Amino acid sequence: MDYRKQFLVDPTKQLLLGDIDPSSTADLASKSAAADLTDQYRAQMEAEQFLLYADGRQSLLVVLQALDAAGKDGVIRHVFSAMNPQGTRVHGFKQPTPIEAAHDFLWRAHKQVPADGEVVIFNRSHYEDVLVVRVHNLVPEEIWSQRYDKINEFERLLTENGTQILKFFLHISPEEQLERFKKRLDDPQRHWKISDSDYSERKFWPQYIEAYQDALTKTSTTHAPWYVIPANSKWFRNLAISQIIADTLKDMKLELPPTHVNIEEIKAHYHAAVKAANGNKP
Ligand code: AMP
Ligand code: MG
Repeated sequence: MDYRKQFLVDPTKQLLLGDIDPSSTADLASKSAAADLTDQYRAQMEAEQFLLYADGRQSLLVVLQALDAAGKDGVIRHVFSAMNPQGTRVHGFKQPTPIEAAHDFLWRAHKQVPADGEVVIFNRSHYEDVLVVRVHNLVPEEIWSQRYDKINEFERLLTENGTQILKFFLHISPEEQLERFKKRLDDPQRHWKISDSDYSERKFWPQYIEAYQDALTKTSTTHAPWYVIPANSKWFRNLAISQIIADTLKDMKLELPPTHVNIEEIKAHYHAAVKAANGNKP
């Protein structure tokens, strides 16, 4: 099944997250049915990233957005571990520092975009400035409502410079979030993940959903599409995201660059070096 088609956000009609089942596992019945496929896409991601890095002319930016405990960290751990750390980077977006807050909202994002040949994952992103900022009225509506166009232009600039952009919203249900909060409470290994704001933010669920629906509808473009990934099931979430990334990289038609040296000449140097090394033997 082509998850790029299935989970793409159509910008011509208002997205309604209530219409998408967060527990869906599409065409797959079980974790074991997905395992081989996921391995296959992970191998494909690894091979394509090798070419992206070697080629050094294009780059990939992956944006991960979601409500708390939806699995952003899990995706980074389980999906992006397929790639070579050389050429891959994760950047997390927290509450703006005083220096960040003293600049325009895109400044801190622009500084972190991938260089040629790089893969960068945004764990949260410039979208927080139309999500948490909107939900908590951190700036007036007349400011945040103008940011969608600015985001689209910013992303267009990046794509025209050779960056492929993919944006994922990890869609979980409120019941699943509560289950995951419980797991965090029950397991001392997970206590560090608990935040003071988890339960207060949860109360804003409907407002977040509304903000996400608007943001995703207004900023899902052909150059920087949004995908809504059903994420109650972790194995399905990982499968769908790896397929979308692997297929997108494949479509970039990445190739090894031509060599800059004269291979015949270098071979002659090599044979001379072998001869000299043998001649030096006692
Ligand atoms: P976490 O990703 O769990 O480490 O939490 C980061 C926190 O920073 C989240 O609560 C975000 O909503 C918050 N955050 C990120 N960007 C912004 C922003 N531009 N304005 C306000 N809060 C933000
Ligand atoms: Mg958190």
